[in-house]
Amino acid sequence: MEKLKRMVMCAIPTSICNFRCHYCYLSHRSVAFQGEQANFCYPPEHIGKAFSKERLGGACFFNLCADGETLLTKRIDEYLKAIVEQGHYIEIVSNMTVTPVIDRILTWDKDLLERTEFKCSFHYLELKNKGLLDVFADNVNRSWASGASASVEITPADELIPHIDECTAFSMKRFGALPQLTIARNDATIRLEYLTKLSREEYRKVWSRFDSPFWRFKTAIFKKRRKEFCYSGAYSLFVNLATGKTGQCYICWHRQNIFEDLSKPIEFLPVGRCCQPHCYNGHALLTMGMIPGKFADMRFGSNIRDRVRSDGTHWLNEKLRAFFDGRCDENNERLTGAEERKILALSSIWALGMRLKQVLSVVYHAIKKKLD
Ligand code: SF4
Ligand code: SF4
Repeated sequence: MEKLKRMVMCAIPTSICNFRCHYCYLSHRSVAFQGEQANFCYPPEHIGKAFSKERLGGACFFNLCADGETLLTKRIDEYLKAIVEQGHYIEIVSNMTVTPVIDRILTWDKDLLERTEFKCSFHYLELKNKGLLDVFADNVNRSWASGASASVEITPADELIPHIDECTAFSMKRFGALPQLTIARNDATIRLEYLTKLSREEYRKVWSRFDSPFWRFKTAIFKKRRKEFCYSGAYSLFVNLATGKTGQCYICWHRQNIFEDLSKPIEFLPVGRCCQPHCYNGHALLTMGMIPGKFADMRFGSNIRDRVRSDGTHWLNEKLRAFFDGRCDENNERLTGAEERKILALSSIWALGMRLKQVLSVVYHAIKKKLD
């Protein structure tokens, strides 16, 4: 069985979406949905080579997500294919409505589809309002039938509460199981708060009926600042797929461009001290071992993405599930204590500076709001 060496989170700067979900975190940004296509600096073949197993050290998990609907990016299927052809496993974040592109992906060889998973964002109300519920469900089912994996995920939003019964019935009928659940976040807040008007107690009561291990785990790590030494940057990379600009995590102190010169080795430097209010996408980063030895009982494939249907079959195929269950801390070296202390000293000063910046930004906006 192939081992998970690293995670590669790919951001695709396409800011086009055919939906406008009211809880979309992109709409919390000062600029969103500008309607721009990603301007790729390199062709798919170059990006494939940039992500060779030799350069990355082995087979990796790739998550690919745009600043809008991923599959509306021009030639995206060619870029995705170039990555899977290197022997990696990919996760495509999609609202599963761009049927022509899904069709093209589903014509790939079986070996490539076996290592492909669609993270199907189940935007129930938007799908219902646009009359696209069947399109979504058909595309999810066609992915399974073609040998790919698909995980159906819902964003728990207050507006969805009156529709929970119909939504769960639809899910059982068309997907054989209930959707996994994430957490809707308010990215406009400095502490990345829950996006809900419910109290914590009410929130728990309403959404626990989905019995989602993903949601339970995310709830457990939400709003908990990580104080352990984090190996993001060494075990994972955050890459802008259009330019090759690469960081250690969402916010980081070391950057490089891994597409410019393919003869140059990639630097794998751990971030050390995290400066975020909580691990931003910890359901993937932490279950895949960014903090060595932590949360080893939760596995990304089996617990976060998979569901077992009522007939005993799985949403994720066996090979992909086993790979997604891997942990980078089990397949990579750790630094010595002295090396960790050196990075920690450097990153602690940086993290302090970042937090100070965040506090000043809150004060600035509070004063500005009063003056306006
Ligand atoms: S489909 Fe995704 S990107 Fe588009 S509006 Fe909904 S949440 Fe945002
Ligand atoms: S704790 Fe999470 S968000 Fe923070 S640096 Fe590590 S992986 Fe990134």
